[in-house]
Amino acid sequence: MTDPSLRSWVAAANDAACDFPIQNLPYGVFSVGGQAPRCGVAIGDMILDLGDCEARGLLDAQGAFGRPALNDFIEQGRGTWDDIRAKMTALLAEDGDRSLPLVPMADATLHLPIRVSEFTDFYASKNHAFNVGVLFRGPDNALPPQWTHMPIGYNGRASSVVVSGTPIHRPMGQAKGDNGPVWTASRRLDLELELGAIVGANSQMGQRISVADAEDMIFGYVLLNDWSARDIQAWEYQPLGPFQAKALGTTISPWIVTQAALEPFRSAGAERDNPLLPYLQEDRPGFYDLTLGWTMNGTRMAQTNYNVMYYSSAQQLAHHAVSGCPMRVGDLLGTGTISGPTLDQTGALLEMTQGGKSPVRVGGAERTFIEDGDEVALYGYAQGNGYRIGFGPCIGKILPAQE
Ligand code: CA
Repeated sequence: MTDPSLRSWVAAANDAACDFPIQNLPYGVFSVGGQAPRCGVAIGDMILDLGDCEARGLLDAQGAFGRPALNDFIEQGRGTWDDIRAKMTALLAEDGDRSLPLVPMADATLHLPIRVSEFTDFYASKNHAFNVGVLFRGPDNALPPQWTHMPIGYNGRASSVVVSGTPIHRPMGQAKGDNGPVWTASRRLDLELELGAIVGANSQMGQRISVADAEDMIFGYVLLNDWSARDIQAWEYQPLGPFQAKALGTTISPWIVTQAALEPFRSAGAERDNPLLPYLQEDRPGFYDLTLGWTMNGTRMAQTNYNVMYYSSAQQLAHHAVSGCPMRVGDLLGTGTISGPTLDQTGALLEMTQGGKSPVRVGGAERTFIEDGDEVALYGYAQGNGYRIGFGPCIGKILPAQE
């Protein structure tokens, strides 16, 4: 249970605008100097060194916290997650242990928090699916007939998932020219504002997963930018879906905000157009009241909320396994672009500029798509009473194509 009045002896954690109060305690992997990466938790402007805590006997995760990814800790299951969270809360509270090993976040390098087992990306905002469908296929065929009946997704690549701060090169590829294909640097490079759910338990081949069990299997969430080359996408995506347009890189935030920290912000999602088949029905709200937005070169471009979405991560996970596909600890499930109904709530430039037809202001400049040198930052937080559960930034800068 979250106590909104709880405060920490780490002073910066008590600032109401801080992303990392004692009610949050998101997990990541960090290093300082030339030392090996290990697990940590963000608190205020500091990182609690979990590897050192474990070496001192303050926490017990069977040695997992000394490792360069959280997978071995996560695999120990919800009992361990809850136990460690309760112990960390006690250690960091005002009457806690002031001799804890803390590292200033400003001195640390943040790494990918998990070994990403596999990456699947979904398409669960009805506003986004409709808007993009209009641009690609016209208004009559915008929303495919199955869309309101099941989560649509594709199997992406784990190998191209990178941590916030990693530069991304504009991709080269095939696009449609006036007389057949052209070899080009993408001219319609875009972002996609998403959340990524981190699967925290394994399932077996042939095992279906109920929505309730799927929710129990989710360890937490990261911000996720699914960079997309729209010109490459438009030429390649039929009939099997996006391929190279989405393989140039996917950026995630370094901190995993746990389901436990988000629990007080549980929310209903978008209104349903029709009842779902029983295997996708959920008996309690599966979304969070979570403000999400993005900036370009420091200018705020759009802001929306996770609760505009039509399918929750638990529904997506249940659907992913419905054929018996086994799921693994460290699987990353992208929610799909999160867009509200208006242009200042859109999670992609494709929608915001209506396919590049209406440029938008970015500070003193104009943009239709992303230009070389542009930096896109995602942000997200749930607003509590006197505190907020933040994700920290998820940043990527676009570098010129490698021709
Ligand atoms: Ca996407």
